[in-house]
Amino acid sequence: MADKVLEVAHLEKFYGKKHVLHDINFSVDQGEVVTLLGPSGSGKSTLIRCLNGLETYQKGTITFEGQKIVPTEKNWQQLRQKIGMVFQSYDLFPNLTVMDNILLGPTKVQKQDKQAARQEAERLLASVELSDYANAYPRELSGGQAQRVAIVRALALHPDFMLFDEVTASLDPEMVRGVLNIIEGLADQDNMTMIVVTHEMNFAKQIADRVLFLQDGEILEQTSSKQFFSNPQTSRAKEFLDSMD
Ligand code: ADP
Ligand code: MG
Repeated sequence: MADKVLEVAHLEKFYGKKHVLHDINFSVDQGEVVTLLGPSGSGKSTLIRCLNGLETYQKGTITFEGQKIVPTEKNWQQLRQKIGMVFQSYDLFPNLTVMDNILLGPTKVQKQDKQAARQEAERLLASVELSDYANAYPRELSGGQAQRVAIVRALALHPDFMLFDEVTASLDPEMVRGVLNIIEGLADQDNMTMIVVTHEMNFAKQIADRVLFLQDGEILEQTSSKQFFSNPQTSRAKEFLDSMD
C-alpha cells in the first residue's frame, strides 16, 4: 500500500452563511497526481486553499503525512514549507529580481545555506529554461515566464506536495505548453505528489492518476482518470466533459 500524503475527512466550508463545501472526503497517495475538475464556482479553489491554510474550514479534518493538522496560523506557516502552491496570478514580488524572489523563502524562512540555495535556484531556473533571467525583474517577464518562476519559487522550498490552481488560465495560448510541460516533468521525473486544478482537459487526461469531480461543493465522482474520461458515471460529469470539447 502506498503511503497517504493527504487525507481529508468530512470537510465543510462556509463563507458566512453560504455553504460552499459539503462533506468532502478523499486522500492522495505518495507520488499520485489528482486533478480536481468541475465547473466554475464549484468550489475547486476554495478546497485547495483550505489544504494550504489560506481559507478556514468549519468542520472536518485534514491529515498531512500522518498528522492531523491543528489549523492555527503558526502551524500553517510551517506546513506551507511542505505544501507548495501556485495560483493563476503569479504574485511575484515586483521589487525583487527573479533570483531574489526564489531565494526569499529558502534563505529567510528556512534558513538554508545561502550558497547552496543559490545553486539550487540556478539549477531550477535552468530546468525551466530561464537561466538568463536570474537578474530580471518580474515586469520584464512574459506571463509564461513569470509563471515558471512562480513554480520554481515554490519548488525551491523542497515541498513534499504541490497544489496548482489553474496556473495557465491567464496565459496567452502560446505560453501554456511550456508551463504544462514543467508540471508534467514534476509528475513523471520527480514523482511529485500533487493536486492540479485545470481546465486543460487533454493535459488533465494525460497527467492525472485520479480525478475528483466537484459540482456545487460536492465531490460527485472520485475515480481513475481512465474511467472518468472514458465513462463518467454522472450526467453532470458527462455534461461537463461535453462542454469542454
Ligand atoms: P471554483 O474555483 O471552482 O471556480 P470557488 O472555490 O472560487 O470555485 O468558489 C466556490 C463558491 O464560493 C462560489 O459560489 C463562489 O462565489 C464562492 N466564493 C468564493 N470565494 C468567496 C469569498 N471569498 N467569499 C464569499 N464567497 C466566495
Ligand atoms: Mg477557481
